[in-house]
Amino acid sequence: MVNRLQAVRGMNDLLAEEMPYWQQVERAVRELFADYGYQEMRVPLLEHAELFQRSIGEHTDIVEKEMYRFEDRGGGWLALRPEATAGLVRAAIEHGLLHNQKQRLWTAGPMFRYERPQQGRYRQFHQIDCEAFGYPGPDIDVEMIQISARLWRKLGIDGVRLRVNSLGTPESRRHYRELLVGYFRSHRDALDADSQRRLDTNPLRILDSKNPALAAVIAGAPSLTDHLDDESRAHFERFRGLLADCGIAHGVDARLVRGLDYYTRTVFEWTTDALGAQDAVCSGGRYDGLVGQLGGESTPAIGWALGIERLVSLLRTAHVALPAVRPAVYLVLSGESAERAGIALADRLRDALPGIGVLVNLGGGGLKAQMKRADKSGAALALIIGDDEAARRVAALKQLRVESPQQEYGWDELPARIGALWRRKD
Ligand code: ATP
Ligand code: MG
Repeated sequence: MVNRLQAVRGMNDLLAEEMPYWQQVERAVRELFADYGYQEMRVPLLEHAELFQRSIGEHTDIVEKEMYRFEDRGGGWLALRPEATAGLVRAAIEHGLLHNQKQRLWTAGPMFRYERPQQGRYRQFHQIDCEAFGYPGPDIDVEMIQISARLWRKLGIDGVRLRVNSLGTPESRRHYRELLVGYFRSHRDALDADSQRRLDTNPLRILDSKNPALAAVIAGAPSLTDHLDDESRAHFERFRGLLADCGIAHGVDARLVRGLDYYTRTVFEWTTDALGAQDAVCSGGRYDGLVGQLGGESTPAIGWALGIERLVSLLRTAHVALPAVRPAVYLVLSGESAERAGIALADRLRDALPGIGVLVNLGGGGLKAQMKRADKSGAALALIIGDDEAARRVAALKQLRVESPQQEYGWDELPARIGALWRRKD
């Protein structure tokens, strides 16, 4: 017996049945970014592994445990991108996009993380990613949130909640980090093994621990919000004021630290109760130091990423209705000369009525079977041609969704008749 191969674990096939949801999301996102003046960019799925190590940080879950890293044939380490920001920043520096310029950019595509696959968590997943470069103030922070908030409205999704926090500057964070390490060291016995390890590498991440046994010790920890530098505090307050002006409800969560090293000041996350444990739908923040850290001119920057699989699950659980994509016409062809004429006639109809869907019955079959297929296709109209009709250059037109008599028309009349019966719905 031949051994059938299967997909790599955690990497999904997207079957046709699911695609209308994806297309709905992609359509909405494309329109949305155009409305806000963001331009699309695309960067490779593979980068030098060093790019992610240097940007995301060596002591983060992504780099330590989740990155697909391998040696290239020519030597050197490559990685499948676990997120989009680092690649976009690399490209923006490489192409001189940040020199005396501001940029509003977006991209979308697959990301790769070696995680334990489960509902809402995969090894290849897809993100929509939004980034802005060259804007130092909290106005862009709010615009980032406005865009995501509008996307939920546009897609008919509700029940997503926004949490925000400020991580301050690297200097204020260093100071806070010392306080935090001091606090956790004095409670070392209460920490789990993961957190004890993080004490030396990435102590802020302890705040993010999902282990319920740690809840009490984390609750007693000093709060980052109380140790912000003055400028970061002012930035955060203006940001929150602007959010209020825009009527965007949010909660401050001092424990929101995000998993990546490069964030500064504003960070945020949209979560939902509708998806179980994988509750983060969209998250992001400001990363003012990253461009400089990767060798570019120092440039303030901010961005977010949204998981498309989780968004599609939300659309499905919310039973959002999707516009149906159906052909207008199904061509029923009975007999050899009808089949021959039908193929060319279908293309003439497509020329005359752009945007119309014409499905040709291929591979023969009896009249009854073909009418069944016509009905199943969702088409509004069937055009029925036998050898006799082909010889006379006519076709019988039957409306499939309303009761009405079948009528015969000459081929030249068909575009006008079909055009009158079919209104494009999109
Ligand atoms: P989580 O806490 O769920 O691991 P994260 O903080 O690692 O999320 P980000 O790196 O901020 O996620 O990525 C942004 C979004 O991408 C997440 O909010 C989520 O919707 C989605 N995402 C992240 N990892 C996965 C994954 N393995 N499978 C599917 N979607 C994912
Ligand atoms: Mg993660």
